[in-house]
Parts: sequence; C-alpha cells; structure tokens
Amino acid sequence: MLARLALPDERGYDRRRAALVEALRTKGIVDERVLDAVHRVPRHLFVWDSQRHLAYHDVALPIGHGQTISQPFTVAVQTALLDLAPGDRVLEIGTGSGYQAAVLAELGARVYSVERHADLLAPTEALLQTLGYRIKTKAGDGSLGWPEYAPFDAIVVTAGAVGIPDALRRQLVTPISGVRRGGRLVIPVGDASGQTMRRLVRTGADTFDDEAYGDFRFVPFVQG
Ligand code: SAH
Repeated sequence: MLARLALPDERGYDRRRAALVEALRTKGIVDERVLDAVHRVPRHLFVWDSQRHLAYHDVALPIGHGQTISQPFTVAVQTALLDLAPGDRVLEIGTGSGYQAAVLAELGARVYSVERHADLLAPTEALLQTLGYRIKTKAGDGSLGWPEYAPFDAIVVTAGAVGIPDALRRQLVTPISGVRRGGRLVIPVGDASGQTMRRLVRTGADTFDDEAYGDFRFVPFVQG
C-alpha cells in the first residue's frame, strides 16, 4: 500500500506487531476485523522516537501535554464495542496521536476526530496524511461533538469523563426499524481514580440502552 512499508523492517516492527495482535487475542479480543486493523497500523510511527522500542508492548505511552496514546488493549476494546460496518460515520473525541483514528479508518469507517490541544493535533494531522489516512480533524471542545457532521453511527471518547455529555447522545443516529441501526456511544465514565467503559445505543428519539464493560484508566476528558 505504502512505499514506507516496502522498506526493510530492520527493527522487526512487523514481527512485534504480529506478537501484539496475539497478545490481544490472549487477553480476550475476539473480533478478527479489529485484530486485523491493529495488525495494519504502524503504532511505532505514532509515538516518540525515544518510545519506539515500547510501541508494540501493550502499554499507554506519553505523547506530550500530559496526554497518552491509549494502551492497544483499550483501543481494541473500544473499537470492538463500536461494532462498525464499512462506511459508518464515526466521531472520535480526543485525537491525540491519531492511532485510534487510524485503527477506525482501517475498518473502513469515515472518521471525524476532535482534539482540544491544537499543538498536539498539528503533527498528528501531518502523520495521518503521510500515511494516507483520510480523516477529518479539528481542534476544539469534543464535549460539543461535531454538529456539522452529525448524526454519527458511532462516537468514541478516548478520555475519562465524569458524565455523558448530552450533545454526544444527541448526535447518534436514531434507528429506523429494518432500515438503520441506532448509533453507539462508547465512553469511559468515572473519576480520576478510574472509569467504567459504558456503551450507549440509541434505541429511539429519547431512549438509549446503557451497558457497562469493565474498568479502565484514561487521562481526563476536559469538559467546558
Ligand atoms: N485517541 C488518542 C488518545 C489520546 S489521550 C490516541 O489514540 O492517541 C486523550 C486525548 O483527549 C488527549 O489528547 C486530550 O487532549 C483529549 N481531550 C481531553 N478532553 C477533550 C475535549 N473536551 N475535547 C477534545 N479532546 C479532548
């Protein structure tokens, strides 16, 4: 696909990435499409040079401004919960390194992503473009969603929120029986000590299913 991938893999990144995929499988990720997407995204390019040797360990890593690229297991869990079909419109809140956005793009989604730190976003936009990912990004407050492009089939928040912003629920697709599924919102909710992964599925104009999917620890979602 990309000239870069034809370069000699001197550091063994391809082999390490394959091992990461197997580690995720062992930890319970069963969605083969998600595992394939993780297999295709060169995570070592989304972290600092000084962190590259850790890029295929299942750990979060610093990306600047006190933020982190999420642990691959967490990315895989959130991505699987979004239950994407190719062509789905997905909004990510918290672009950060761009890694999660790239994984979503590999699943064939049309990806929109909002990041509050403009100076984190600039190098990320350049990287995503270099790698050939067509992802629409903007700097701003993700708790408002992105009304101009709503509704979304899926929304993923990649920072730990204290509550579920109403604007995000409202920007989920409303289902039509037999025609289209309701939108899914995947968001970690809790306090600084940890968050529970929640998935809301829109079932009607004012109704949502809400389920919990285990405990995680994210950098804070800054609201307002
Ligand atoms: N998805 C990213 C994870 C980055 S960490 C990745 O794959 O690398 C979470 C990100 O959410 C941080 O970059 C942080 O600046 C951003 N963030 C926190 N609150 C936000 C808000 N209200 N709106 C937009 N971005 C926000």
